[in-house]
Amino acid sequence: MPLVTLNDVLPQGREKGYAVGAYDFMSITMMLGIMDAAEETKTPIILQFPDVPAMAELDVLAPAMLAAAKKSSVPVVVHLDHGKSFDVVKKCVAAGFSSVMIDASTEPYEENARLTKAVVDYCKPLGIPVEGELGHVGQGSEYDLGGYQYTDPDQAVDFVKATGISALAVAIGNAHGEYKGDPVINYEILKAIVDRVSIPLVLHGGSGISDADFNKIIKHGVSKINIFTELALEARARLSKIRPEGLSVFSVEAAIREGFKSRTISKIKLFGTESI
Ligand SMILES: [Zn+2]
Repeated sequence: MPLVTLNDVLPQGREKGYAVGAYDFMSITMMLGIMDAAEETKTPIILQFPDVPAMAELDVLAPAMLAAAKKSSVPVVVHLDHGKSFDVVKKCVAAGFSSVMIDASTEPYEENARLTKAVVDYCKPLGIPVEGELGHVGQGSEYDLGGYQYTDPDQAVDFVKATGISALAVAIGNAHGEYKGDPVINYEILKAIVDRVSIPLVLHGGSGISDADFNKIIKHGVSKINIFTELALEARARLSKIRPEGLSVFSVEAAIREGFKSRTISKIKLFGTESI
């Protein structure tokens, strides 16, 4: 299958009632586990590389992502997750990514809109869709709804119009990493955003959200869901079962690949892309 973009797989999600899973990785083994899951379930997938220290290996990992997409029998989006600067976006575009996210959500609104629009202006002529974030999806380890920065539905309308983004990451009670306590999704805010914004919505911090909440979130119209922590925890659970006498680089690699694969499959089944 050819490499595809967010615009190829997301826009039908809201109407058809599915969300495409977007899975982060930081090593080739993790990536292979995610690709195994996509192949086994024959479902489109978003393979995403986050702007973290592993980005230093972009020149090695990007060709691996593109090769995996090319070899795959399913549509694959090669996406930058949480690009923090214009510079990193340019690097990923030059490396052949088919979609990018620019995250300036910690900046004041005007600066977030300015930088996001600049990235859209750069990417649009190249046919590369851009995901932006409004409100701020913080860390689950600091989860506290008291100071939570929800996406403002009215501001979201302005943001989408001002920037020309193709997908909007929303903050509706979701957070990255492991949640301190249980996540509480604010469906009133989600509904208000869905009613006003027609482009695909993205939920970050999907790990730890219950299956019932996911069903409801997708029914409300979220079309892309980001997952990493759950895959990492599943891999860790498998690593912890390796007995000292069985410990080797081979058993470690296999546990990571299997962990990423199995948890990705369970998410694909939950998110409804298996039937499309
Ligand atoms: Zn995120």
